[in-house]
Amino acid sequence: MRVRLRNPDREVELAGGRTIHDVLGELEIDPDTVLVIRERELLTRGDRVADEDVIEVRPVISGGAGPNRMKCRRCKAPAVIELRRHNAAFCRDCFLRHVREQVKRAIEGHDMLEPTDRILVAVSGGKDSLALWDVLLDLEYRADGLYLGLGIGEYSSRSHEVVRAFARDRGAHLVEVDLARDAGFDVPTAGRKGSRSTCAVCGLSKRYVFNRAARQGGYDVIATGHNLDDEAATLLGNTLRWQTDYIARQSPALPAEEGLARKVKPLYRLSELETAAYAFLLGIDYVVEECPLVAGNTQLRYKEAMNRLESASPGTKAQFFLGYLDRGAPLFAAQDDARLTACLRCGESTTGSFCAFCRARAQILGERLEEPRAGGTEQGERLEEPRAGGTEQGERLEDVPVSDVELVRDLPDEVMPVEIYESAGR
Ligand code: AMP
Ligand code: ZN
Repeated sequence: MRVRLRNPDREVELAGGRTIHDVLGELEIDPDTVLVIRERELLTRGDRVADEDVIEVRPVISGGAGPNRMKCRRCKAPAVIELRRHNAAFCRDCFLRHVREQVKRAIEGHDMLEPTDRILVAVSGGKDSLALWDVLLDLEYRADGLYLGLGIGEYSSRSHEVVRAFARDRGAHLVEVDLARDAGFDVPTAGRKGSRSTCAVCGLSKRYVFNRAARQGGYDVIATGHNLDDEAATLLGNTLRWQTDYIARQSPALPAEEGLARKVKPLYRLSELETAAYAFLLGIDYVVEECPLVAGNTQLRYKEAMNRLESASPGTKAQFFLGYLDRGAPLFAAQDDARLTACLRCGESTTGSFCAFCRARAQILGERLEEPRAGGTEQGERLEEPRAGGTEQGERLEDVPVSDVELVRDLPDEVMPVEIYESAGR
């Protein structure tokens, strides 16, 4: 099959017998930016083309066709990446500079880090957190890595390897924690045995371990790789439910407070595309596969929705999240009023008697959490006992213990809030 590409004009021979979707995929062309024409007829993505067909791919948006025509905004060299949101394209070096500039701007704008701070960067082995660690080292911060083994089979072992290799290459220090060894369960077990969804326990465990590791290691601050796409999707989810307390705490810099380490998200001004390109251009090996347990996760649905909006109007995500920080967040500040005390079992911060992690853990391991009471109910309380009628459907909204508010205090992973309320509707 002959394909005529326009702007600049050129022709390529490709195999037929497949859909336009596949053909455009092979040519790395966004279907939203071109018309596909056969004779006088317009084809859509589901249409099939045959070997003997001749088709024309005609850009409808200026800049939508060939990859090599654009020039770097800063230096006019051939561009390697286009950022529609910024209405700009960059060559390799100027793009790397752009990423570092955005991180610096985030750090300065929110007083995230001091040059003397000891930083613990939570690294999953994905593009975002490795890019973050790389940029922080590059900017000469004192940044150690923290890897948490979640026990998700091949996916976890590959992630661990990638993170170790990065630390070795950069001569950086890596703190390694294994959930099964430390807490007695891994994430797949937690998903099977607990009443929460797998993503919810995973998010909860990460927050807990990050906080604890930072305090035990004497770190000043925890940095996570959350990017603009993550933050916009989370804000969308929280807004759809009017979770005003969660909305109030969606700042990329949360100060330390009673028992909780300071937390920062220096990549919040960069999209997923930018962090991936950064890692790719620097030859950083990262885990491309998604977590195998994440399918159907609510957060992913919000990301897809945001991507559709973004593709129609580039800049939507940034307007939504950066606009929230600028003008929305101050309006919600009064909603953030949870009071923290020490968990009776582990001493970490909580708004109830036992922290959410200890409650989840007790349930997964089938243990009892004893609560000393004035006047003494010595038999204690079995928290989050599986309810009659089967908890596999998940918790209903009114069943969610009030003390889950504490999760919000400790925000690096937002899957938790979304998941809790997701199960409410089922
Ligand atoms: P996720 O919750 O998978 O979207 O990850 C959000 C952020 O949490 C990442 O950018 C990392 O900073 C951190 N993170 C996720 N998984 C791990 C892990 N297994 N070990 C250390 N940090 C992690
Ligand atoms: Zn606890």
